[in-house]
Amino acid sequence: MAGPTLGGSLRILGFKGIDVHVHWTFLLLVGYVAVTTAATGAVLREVLLQLAYVGLVFACVVLHEYGHALTALRYGVRTRDITLLPIGGVASLERMPEEPAQEFWITMAGPLVNLVLAVLAGTVQWFFFGGLHVLDPREGAAVLPGLLSFLFTANLSLFLFNLLPAFPMDGGRILRALLSLRLPRVQATRIATGVGRALAAVLGIGGLYFGEPMLALIGVFIWFAAGAEARAVIQQTALRGITAAQVMRTRFWALPGEATVGRAVDELLAGGDQDLLVVESGKPVGLVTRRQLMEALRARREERPLREVPPTPVEGVPPGMGAQQALQQLALRGLPLLPVVDGGVVVGVLEPDNLAEFLQVQGMRARQRPGA
Ligand SMILES: [Zn+2]
Repeated sequence: MAGPTLGGSLRILGFKGIDVHVHWTFLLLVGYVAVTTAATGAVLREVLLQLAYVGLVFACVVLHEYGHALTALRYGVRTRDITLLPIGGVASLERMPEEPAQEFWITMAGPLVNLVLAVLAGTVQWFFFGGLHVLDPREGAAVLPGLLSFLFTANLSLFLFNLLPAFPMDGGRILRALLSLRLPRVQATRIATGVGRALAAVLGIGGLYFGEPMLALIGVFIWFAAGAEARAVIQQTALRGITAAQVMRTRFWALPGEATVGRAVDELLAGGDQDLLVVESGKPVGLVTRRQLMEALRARREERPLREVPPTPVEGVPPGMGAQQALQQLALRGLPLLPVVDGGVVVGVLEPDNLAEFLQVQGMRARQRPGA
């Protein structure tokens, strides 16, 4: 999968500058496995073995995500990190190339890693242990053949599951990339979303009918993820050719670095924004949030200048930059707003909300146009 970075995660390892994080909800899976295994009357050793198998599956998931990340790197796309969730892994790519062939290979690389692992485990088993058997080491099979057969089935399942043609599974992206070869991207996304939703409905209803709550849950998850993907692509397309200057807000709150905290608080009460832009002779130097202001006030620093708060450093973007690219930078840097700078002077600010408003207004204007 590829998606945004999630909060509440712990870093466990890093390779080629890409860190692997474990999301806190992963503990729920560990707890669930431990409790359900113990409930069958298993001894501690068996519970630990079961957890080791969960660890093994997720080691394969990590390799799968590195498959996406390292292929993306070949096309010059960096990955912020890889996060492990109970339902699988997410590689947070900085962006997904719109070139269908690149998207295809980046997406395909993950499942292919699992296919290679399955073939390797299967081949070793075939040559050294006389054929492909499904052996369960928990039921007394010898350790090595049992392990090989487990790796074979686990990777084959990962390969097939990820190829389900539904967002956010890799199969959904592959389907979209293939459709994009012939169709415009928005239409390709709409079709891929429709196929994903049909599959989600089958999983959801099937899960309820056969009493498999996990399957029903995956169905619900796919249904909503498909909608989010479609909206993102439609927005991306609507923004093509739109610059930061067209979307930015030109009325904004800015004060020089020598202005006092007290003055900023007065202005805040008079109707300032959530975030204050600190400028030095027109140039943006940083951001002070409402919370930072309140903390400075609580620390009795009312008479101190704003530059001592200190402001979070920001760099401006040029007005001619594409709105989509500028908003990606905003998200990447994790800032609430980004100043737009022309000739060394702030001319406006960009916020995620501006964009939604801009698209809404544009949509209404298009509808009002005579003959449209
Ligand atoms: Zn994947």
